[in-house]
Amino acid sequence: MRAVFLDRDGTIIEDMVYLSDPERLRFLRGAVEALRKLYRAGYLLFVVTNQSGLKRGFLSLERLLVIHRKLDLLLRREGILIKKFAFCPHHPNERCRCRKPETFMVKRILKEYPGISLDESYTVGDKYTDVLLGKKVGTKTILIGEKDADKAHPDYVVRDLLQASEIILGKG
Ligand SMILES: [Mg+2]
Ligand SMILES: [Zn+2]
Repeated sequence: MRAVFLDRDGTIIEDMVYLSDPERLRFLRGAVEALRKLYRAGYLLFVVTNQSGLKRGFLSLERLLVIHRKLDLLLRREGILIKKFAFCPHHPNERCRCRKPETFMVKRILKEYPGISLDESYTVGDKYTDVLLGKKVGTKTILIGEKDADKAHPDYVVRDLLQASEIILGKG
């Protein structure tokens, strides 16, 4: 099995800086189409997101779960199934095992889905920490946007998730 580990904010949906209102959830251009293509090609899709806004007091756990349920529902309507929405609820100061670039969220997924072949899988995100996570767990890495490209050294730099999907599907 092959998987794509996806960042949420700035990768699938607009980065609102601590999104707490489900009404403000907006897909980035091309993101739904990209996810549909990957899903139809048989990739297992996982969202892996840092949500320190929980500890910073910007949103409640309840709100976060509502946002993820809404995201899941909107994508299901488009025929896309996200296998899991994994999130780190901690503040950076807590030095937890799950906040990206730490690997615990992905490790837990790999325990649940032991058939995932990491060297055929991808980690996609818009930040340095996403690329570092992908390297630590042994997937290929795709960075969206040039911002962190110099320090992150990803396998690929793309403009958006749609272009990432084209690379993953061998059409890039
Ligand atoms: Mg992001
Ligand atoms: Zn954590």
